[in-house]
Amino acid sequence: MKKDVYKKIQFILFITFVANMLVAIFKIIIGIATKSTSITADAFTSVADGLSNVIAVLGIYFASKPEDEHHPYGHAKIETVASLLIGLFLAYTGIKVMMEAVDKIKNPVHPDITAVSIVVMIFTLIVNGFVSYYEQKKGEELGSSILVSDALHTRSDIYVTIGVLITLFLIKTGAPVILDSIASIIISLLIFKTAYDVFVENTNVLIDARVVDNELIKETVFKNYESVKEIHKIRSRGTQNNIFIDMHVQVDPDMNVRQSHTLMHDIERTIQKDINNNAHVIIHIEPYSGKDDNSI
Ligand SMILES: [Zn+2]
Ligand SMILES: [Zn+2]
Ligand SMILES: [Zn+2]
Repeated sequence: MKKDVYKKIQFILFITFVANMLVAIFKIIIGIATKSTSITADAFTSVADGLSNVIAVLGIYFASKPEDEHHPYGHAKIETVASLLIGLFLAYTGIKVMMEAVDKIKNPVHPDITAVSIVVMIFTLIVNGFVSYYEQKKGEELGSSILVSDALHTRSDIYVTIGVLITLFLIKTGAPVILDSIASIIISLLIFKTAYDVFVENTNVLIDARVVDNELIKETVFKNYESVKEIHKIRSRGTQNNIFIDMHVQVDPDMNVRQSHTLMHDIERTIQKDINNNAHVIIHIEPYSGKDDNSI
C-alpha cells in the first residue's frame, strides 16, 4: 500500500477518535445526571471505540513500514493483528453490557429521564451514525480492513444507543424497568456477533485463506495472453491492501528466457490492473507438453 493511503487512513482514524471521545463525554455527563446505568454503559462502549481507534493508528503506523531484512514480506499483517485487538475490545464491550443488564435485573434503579437527556442521546446517535458511515465508505474506498472493522465497531455502539433510547422512552411511558435489562442483553448479543465477524475475517488473513478466485485469475490471464497454454497451482493470500499470488504457467517449450520473462511481468501488470492494484505475482514457468501436466 502507498504511503499517502496510510496517511489518509490515519487522518480518518483521528477524526473518528475525536468524535468517539466527544460522544463518550456527553454520555458520561447524561448518565450521571439521569442516574441511568444503561446510558453509563453506553458511554463505556464509546470509550472503547476511542481506545480501538488508538490501537488502529498504531497498527497502521507499523503496517506502513517498508520491508526490511527481518520482514521481507513487509509489516502489513500488523494491521490484521490490530484488527483482532479491535475484535477483542468488541467482545469485552459485549461482556460489559451483558453484566450491566444482569446487575440491573438484580438491583433495579428508576432512571430520571429528562427531555434534555433524550436530545443529547439523539445528538450522539447522529454523530455516531455519521462517523460509522464515513469510516466504512472511506475504508471500502481505500481497501482498508482496519477502517471497515472499526466502522462495524462504531455501528455496534449505535445499536446500544438506539436500544437505550427505546427503553428510556418505554419506561417513561410506564413500562416496567426490567425492559431496560432485556434490551441491553439483546444489544450485547449484537455486539458479540460483530466481534465474531471481525475475528473470522482477520483470522482468515492470518491463516492465509484464499483472497482471489482461481477462476478469475485463469480467465484474466487466458483472455489477455494467447501464449499461455495452461495454468495450475494458483495460490493467493494476504489482505486487499497486500495480496500475494503465485502460480505455475505453461508456455511453448521453445520460448526463450527473454520472451518468457517479459510475459511474466506483463501478466503481473495485467493482474494488478484487472484484479487488484496491490497484488504481488510470482510465476513459475514450465514447458507445455500438449496436456496440462500438474506433476511439473
Ligand atoms: Zn521489520
Ligand atoms: Zn523480472
Ligand atoms: Zn507445475
